[in-house]
Amino acid sequence: MKTTTRVVVIGGGVVGCSVLYHLTKLGWSDVMLLERSELTAGSTWHAAGGFHTINGDTNMAALQGYTIKLYKELEEITGLSCGLHHSGGFTLATTQDRFDHLLAERAKHRHMGLDTHIMTPDEIKKIAPITNIDGVVGALYDPLDGHLDPSGTTHAYARAARMAGAEIVTHCRVLETNPRADGTWDVVTEQGTIHAEHVVNAGGLWAREVAAMAGHYVPLHPMEHHYLVTDDIPEVYERDTEHPHVVDPAGESYLRQEGRGLCIGYYEKKPRAWAVDGSPWDFAAELLPDDLDKISDSIEMSWHRFPVLATAGVKRVIHGPFTFAPDGNPLVGPVPGLRNYWSACGVMAGFSQGGGVGLMLAQWMTTGECERDTSSFDIARYGPWIQKGYTLPKVMENYSTRFSVPYPNEEKPAARPLLRTPMYDVFDGMGAVWGHYYGLEVPNYFAEGDEPRYETPSFRRSNAHEATGRECRAVREGVGINEIHNFGKYSVTGPNARDWLDRIMAGRIPAPGRITLTPMLSPSGRIIGDFTVSCLGEQDFRLTASYGAQAYHSRWFDQNIMREVQVINISDRTSGFQIAGPKAREVLQTVTREDISDMRFLDVRTLTLGLLTVIVQRVSYTGDLGYEIYCDPLEQRTLWDQLWAAGQPHGMKPFGMRAMMSLRLDRHFGSWLREYSPDYTPAETGLDRFIAWKKPVDFIGRAAAEKAREDGPVRQLCMFEIAAEDADVKGYEPLWINGEVVGFCTSGGYSHHLGKSMAHAFVPTPLIAPGLEAEIEVLGVRRKAKRIDTPLFDADGGRMRG
Ligand SMILES: Cc1cc2nc3c(=O)[nH]c(=O)nc-3n(C[C@H](O)[C@H](O)[C@H](O)COP(=O)(O)OP(=O)(O)OC[C@H]3O[C@@H](n4cnc5c(N)ncnc54)[C@H](O)[C@@H]3O)c2cc1C
Repeated sequence: MKTTTRVVVIGGGVVGCSVLYHLTKLGWSDVMLLERSELTAGSTWHAAGGFHTINGDTNMAALQGYTIKLYKELEEITGLSCGLHHSGGFTLATTQDRFDHLLAERAKHRHMGLDTHIMTPDEIKKIAPITNIDGVVGALYDPLDGHLDPSGTTHAYARAARMAGAEIVTHCRVLETNPRADGTWDVVTEQGTIHAEHVVNAGGLWAREVAAMAGHYVPLHPMEHHYLVTDDIPEVYERDTEHPHVVDPAGESYLRQEGRGLCIGYYEKKPRAWAVDGSPWDFAAELLPDDLDKISDSIEMSWHRFPVLATAGVKRVIHGPFTFAPDGNPLVGPVPGLRNYWSACGVMAGFSQGGGVGLMLAQWMTTGECERDTSSFDIARYGPWIQKGYTLPKVMENYSTRFSVPYPNEEKPAARPLLRTPMYDVFDGMGAVWGHYYGLEVPNYFAEGDEPRYETPSFRRSNAHEATGRECRAVREGVGINEIHNFGKYSVTGPNARDWLDRIMAGRIPAPGRITLTPMLSPSGRIIGDFTVSCLGEQDFRLTASYGAQAYHSRWFDQNIMREVQVINISDRTSGFQIAGPKAREVLQTVTREDISDMRFLDVRTLTLGLLTVIVQRVSYTGDLGYEIYCDPLEQRTLWDQLWAAGQPHGMKPFGMRAMMSLRLDRHFGSWLREYSPDYTPAETGLDRFIAWKKPVDFIGRAAAEKAREDGPVRQLCMFEIAAEDADVKGYEPLWINGEVVGFCTSGGYSHHLGKSMAHAFVPTPLIAPGLEAEIEVLGVRRKAKRIDTPLFDADGGRMRG
């Protein structure tokens, strides 16, 4: 065993082996993998080996598509068989809501290039006759679905890595990982210590323990999971072709052919967590005792859907643990707060996702960034607020709802409330219907009178529609108030603060008393942040951005910090409100003795409001005349009392996130991770207008952004008005022109002020023309759409700036 290496990967499951292979594929051959037992000894060996591309998140679906295509490459490189069966598979819908979901998924697949099909019950019966189609509305068929041999596949990754120079050491448990001052690591093992530049935690079932060795907490939990393999079934083995996979979400089951019988697994509603207090080190290549009582309801439902099961004998019962993050997605990337320490954990579908996870991590390690937006699987989507007590109930909820319809507006209840601002009780008393955002409770909207305090999950307009309209009108006609705790906020101070900002942000850094908007770019020129920068003094700046991106942005700031600059995340140390609408100025003037009539759009000032000295920024994401007022959280209730009292003569109403996301559409404002994400460039999204091309600074991403400007974008973001009925665009719906899918939507919604359904969509540049007519497919129906060239509200910005 060598004692120095560039990378130590801890864990020889499918994920660790994939990471190892991809590192070698991208040119790092001085890499090694340490496995405490034999390869596959964690959750990998007993997996059912199923794989599929379908995933509600398009970036996860892309990783899954990559993984499935990779297996042939592995077989060719190594000569080993992955035991591939491309049997195709479908997901059943037994309610209109679930069918809506499948229609929405099919629509997304059109621009993703996935050849899925919607099937009728008769078509289902034809290709999978063992399915009882009673109550089935339809299904989504994916020809790429299939299954493989988990052990063979893991060994194929391992052999491919070895062939490219990687070393794999088995029976070598890692006992400690100790950082050195220069950012490298001493990895202490049963067989000696290895000095490594980088460490990757691919510890699977033991990822929590491995993370703890480096002093960090990884938010995942192992769950117990069952599948059964039946004896031979004539209706299965007498077929000419392999039986397709069938997922019956309402019945909580997935089914496929195994030899001459069937294999059926269950995601039961009352699941059980495994090893709550830590995974035992003496557990290796083992199963858990059968517990058929736990899945008896699911078994009964599967007998109804697949009657042949009721009489088939059970040949094998597999009951084993595997890990889940609170949202069910992998936890990948550089661990915030640690140098050269990487996570490849929480991969609950190693055979659908393991290849993509390995590729993404290897790209990140070897080049500093990934080719696509990582937000859905980046470990930094969880911040320091994540803790054990939260993870367990959220993982339980995720497991038990794995096959529930994933409504875009659903707010799941487990582990809430976790973080609350001082305004929680006040807003709750005013009828707040709460959302959950990066651990924090945030009002989505306010119910009034007899309106229910619960938003009905739906793909169509929900019961929040009326209330949201009411709040939008309050803003546009008078004044609305909304808490700004849920903005990510940073203080940047020190002699080099301006230089640092000039380097890290692509836009202009403002003079004292002023505010600018700026994109933050990756080295390859893609958007990794959209920031508001306020200059309080020559060495004193404030940044605001997405609350949910705090760990992501802080990690980037840490990685690119300069001497004599202090960057502090003050998101939870600073709170306040925004007031917006034509009466906002009058409200603000009522509570301060200082004259604010000369406060221009994009000015920032320190003002005394009654008892408090606060920072006021003249800017509003609602696109209206508005002010953001920042204070200490302990002062927030006092500030509220003042603003609320001053707002009453003007009909002030509180407004929530639903109204904010509707109001921004009136002015065509994009939003983080919808329009502005690492999948897109400033030139494509229009954010290039905020780039300070003339500043004499080599800001990060400059060369790439200049090249993109020179080449011109091949697609551009446009705003459309859609002839929708009761369902608006959510994101990734295809855009049709002349009978062809040419683009897709990034987000949309209903503009209550304009009375129109709106959507942002990417259109190929050559097709963009004034008043362009197109169609946007919403829930399977192609709706007429017309490009809106300039905002229909406040087109000249007079109201916002006036
Ligand atoms: C019953 C069941 C059915 C499943 N069916 C499917 C399916 O059909 N399709 C699918 O895609 N997925 C399925 N899965 C999930 C799949 O098994 C996991 O996604 C996958 O195994 C995760 O792989 P991993 O490499 O992350 O973790 P693991 O397989 O747990 O590997 C981690 C490895 O790290 C090693 N290790 C840990 N700590 C140390 C240390 N300190 N030093 C050295 N080595 C260490 C362990 O020994 C282990 O080998 C199923 C899981 C179960 C339980």
